[in-house]
Amino acid sequence: MPRLHPADAPSHVSGSDPEGPDPSLQRRSPHWPAVERAWLRQNPDCAVCGSTEDLNVHHIVPVHIDDRWELDERNLITLCRADHLHFGHHGNWSDWNPFVASDAKAVRIGGPHLSGT
Ligand SMILES: [Zn+2]
Repeated sequence: MPRLHPADAPSHVSGSDPEGPDPSLQRRSPHWPAVERAWLRQNPDCAVCGSTEDLNVHHIVPVHIDDRWELDERNLITLCRADHLHFGHHGNWSDWNPFVASDAKAVRIGGPHLSGT
């Protein structure tokens, strides 16, 4: 009796993801890593709080909504992990904030970060 090899089966199934999208699991352009690195060199701090740690390059228009904007700098903004969720996604990974750039700017102009220095 030949054994069936599950070679065609995906090694993991990406279904509903309560932890939010994992960038490493999303389908991304092969050019994305270079674009992301270049962007972070020019924008090495969170647009909201100025943090330089735990940074994500956020797509203002999500790649799954419109991947034509994936590599367009006008669609990118640097956010720390916390602000990525709150400002980029309204606290909900399945939501997104088309006004994240102006929101971030308003917060930065408004003064020091709420949580301290
Ligand atoms: Zn931040």
